[in-house]
Amino acid sequence: MIKNTDFETYGDEFDGVAERIVDKNELETDADFSLRPKTLKEYIGQNKVKENLAIYIEAAKRRGEALDHVLLYGPPGLGKTTLANIVSHELGVNLRVTSGPALEKGGDLVALLTNLGEHDILFIDEIHRLKKPVEEYLYPALEDNTVDIIIGQGPSAQSIRVDLKHFTLIGATTRMGQLSAPLRDRFGIVLHLELYTVEQLTDIVRRSAAILNIPIDIDGATEIARRSRGTPRIANRFLRRVRDFAIVLGKGVITFEIAKIALERLEVDYLGLDNLDRRLLTMLIKGYNGGPVGLSTLSAAIGEEAITLEDVCEPFLMQLGFLARTPQGRCATLLAYKHLNIEIPDSKQLVLGDM
Ligand code: ADP
Repeated sequence: MIKNTDFETYGDEFDGVAERIVDKNELETDADFSLRPKTLKEYIGQNKVKENLAIYIEAAKRRGEALDHVLLYGPPGLGKTTLANIVSHELGVNLRVTSGPALEKGGDLVALLTNLGEHDILFIDEIHRLKKPVEEYLYPALEDNTVDIIIGQGPSAQSIRVDLKHFTLIGATTRMGQLSAPLRDRFGIVLHLELYTVEQLTDIVRRSAAILNIPIDIDGATEIARRSRGTPRIANRFLRRVRDFAIVLGKGVITFEIAKIALERLEVDYLGLDNLDRRLLTMLIKGYNGGPVGLSTLSAAIGEEAITLEDVCEPFLMQLGFLARTPQGRCATLLAYKHLNIEIPDSKQLVLGDM
């Protein structure tokens, strides 16, 4: 059973990109909910993660114990929340969902923890954004299944230890590096989600189209997949937008041509780069001679949150080989110059040739 009552949206940091087509922070709609795979079998891709999880789940079931604490990390929209739902479904236990920024005080977390039943799962999205005092309540909870509650104030304040049920924490994060070491070390299972291949995304698009009753041919699905920067959430969103074009401009069926026209109108190019990706690369190349330049300088120059550039743009640009992160800063590669049709200055030829 899924209780979403504790879940709050957390768009504050991303307000500046609310209009962006690949923005991760649109509210989840009923359609998104219906598209979420419910079992590991239905979950497409991430084979290593799936195989390992299946074993851990089966072992926990056979031992009759709670699953060890799980940390999922990877860029937004790759299926971390979906996996948490699947794990609770496969184990047949309740799932409580919250997020780091939603837990304002230690008491908020304690209330959630003390309400968990035996073997239940607590899912904390964006766990790297937990406030330090809140995080400290987690340590004894994860280690000894207890929390210390302070009752009263001042000199008469008393600390009472409360025993918790055996539970599983599933934490999700887009930025492993920001997780404190003591918290990271308390997760027995750490799973890294990777960007999806075009083939896997094509399967996801076709599955979603079938659920939503959207007629689509294989070339149309592949074209949406190719432009979805390795991310199922984006693929699903594109599918719905392209459907509108298919209804108005075509015969209602999403074909290669319709997908191409629609996504070009949405300013997503054939590799999946959108406006912001192109602005980032263009500024890097034209404004800073291809780099190296620091992330904060780049973010100020294009007027976009550094966190968005780092979490959403960079993983994809690096996967394409368009961007390199060096100790001195971000650098555009030869491929980026070529993709944007910008002439490579002679002085850069040699340096970039190595990247
Ligand atoms: P995250 O929590 O990592 O930001 P979500 O779990 O919310 O990502 O996934 C976003 C959407 O993508 C979900 O609504 C789901 O429909 C879809 N999705 C994610 N992973 C998969 C997958 N492996 N197979 C099919 N659909 C997926």
